Amino acid sequence: MEQMLSSLERDFLQFVRKTMHMNEALNLMLWDLKTGAPKLGVELRAEAFGTLSAEVHAMSTSVQMKSYIDRLSEIAVYDTLSAITKKTLDEVKRKYEQNIHIPVGEYKEYMVLLANAGSVWEAAREKSDFAMFRPCLEQIVAFNRRFVDYWGYEGNRYNAHLDVHEPGMTVAILDDVFTKVKEHIMPLVKRVTEANDQPRTSFLFHYFPKDKQREVSLYLLKAMGYDFARGRLDETVHPFALSINRNDVRVTTAYYEHDFRKSVFSTIHEGGHALYEQNIAEELIGTPLCTAASGGIDESQSLFWEKMVGQHKGFWKYHYPALKEWNREQFDGVELEDFYRAIHFVEPSCIRLRSDEMTYQLHIIIRYEIEKALFNHELEVKDLPEWWNEKMDAYLGIAPPDDAHGVLQDVHWSLGLIGYFPSYALGYLYAAQFRNAMINDLPDFDAFVESGNVAPIRAWLTDNIHLHGRRKTPNELLRDVTGEGLNPDYLLRYFEQKYAEIYRL
Ligand code: ZN
Repeated sequence: MEQMLSSLERDFLQFVRKTMHMNEALNLMLWDLKTGAPKLGVELRAEAFGTLSAEVHAMSTSVQMKSYIDRLSEIAVYDTLSAITKKTLDEVKRKYEQNIHIPVGEYKEYMVLLANAGSVWEAAREKSDFAMFRPCLEQIVAFNRRFVDYWGYEGNRYNAHLDVHEPGMTVAILDDVFTKVKEHIMPLVKRVTEANDQPRTSFLFHYFPKDKQREVSLYLLKAMGYDFARGRLDETVHPFALSINRNDVRVTTAYYEHDFRKSVFSTIHEGGHALYEQNIAEELIGTPLCTAASGGIDESQSLFWEKMVGQHKGFWKYHYPALKEWNREQFDGVELEDFYRAIHFVEPSCIRLRSDEMTYQLHIIIRYEIEKALFNHELEVKDLPEWWNEKMDAYLGIAPPDDAHGVLQDVHWSLGLIGYFPSYALGYLYAAQFRNAMINDLPDFDAFVESGNVAPIRAWLTDNIHLHGRRKTPNELLRDVTGEGLNPDYLLRYFEQKYAEIYRL
């Protein structure tokens, strides 16, 4: 009997590993598509990508998978499984439940819709005409409203979508947290933008050659402790980090020759994602646990490096002399203090991706409130531009001049990504909460950053967060590391202190 059970467990893990291998092929294809695949090969590649993805989807909802889930879930069997197999089973089951309730025909129809939605959205954004995207978006929303009923939900209908990206997250929690964030940040942004002593920023936009920026990016990744023996750096349009497998985690960045900040901070950000994936425990390789705990936790790691380390004054006290060497004229007469203040310039923008870290939170809250209303049938797609512009005016005090700078700016809805936006704001909140816990353990945090010695910081993140991969839910991880649930006070205090100093309030 004992023998039979362990062979069942072994077969299950092998079956799961096979899906992971197919995912590895998919990720490599994706990386290649985004970093220089020949243009004319893209269409055929997309077709091959679609075929393979459908295969993986079919495996995850197959009769065989169902049979593994049923047999391994029997209490007598479940109790004998290893800890990793138990967690793997939970994760596989979660995906199975998400996918299986959607009728096959409907799922296929939805995939076809999404396959074309990207180019419809792009054309509409190009023309700045929401009406062009509206019929397509109405269908995407209609499908996703039905998915809520297929999946089931507790409390608020939008919870079903939140749970996909951030397991356990609910409207009740976010309403409370985002209200606090909004009430705190709106007056702070006003004080900062009205402050007399504004940073000087003109030097930021000088010419900085691409090849030099690449050297800076390589230098920064090395300084963070990114392992180049298990990764590489490439150029792309929209930067991302991608784990092909745990020992091949790639970083991409983008170079703007008249704004070096793009590559510098994208590289640190994506490097933060990559450090997470590179430092997951080896024993999780080949399981769906060998990845970030959630979208929000993943974002907390990239933002921790980008904001709490990469925008730390001590970080530039150490690295600014090196940066200056790459482009002496640009930084001629720009003191460390000027540089530090300039990279914290706050200015409300219509565009989320061009926003500073404080107004960014308000952009996310707007998207959250809109999605919540859409999925509770309090808002229809046709009224989206009006809602969008009203909220922009109310929270950020600016009205988008057109749809391209308003409701059409983000790619997410055309990809069917609903419920994902909150992860970006959660990433900041988690990062600040982790920072507080880290400083309790490492009181010399500032001194480490200032001396260019980030190894203790990286080690802390690895031990407390990275190693666990997806073994813990976001909330379990947060509680284990910080001793409490989601608490926005840490981020709000961090902003308050930092910006009072920078803007001499
Ligand atoms: Zn990110």
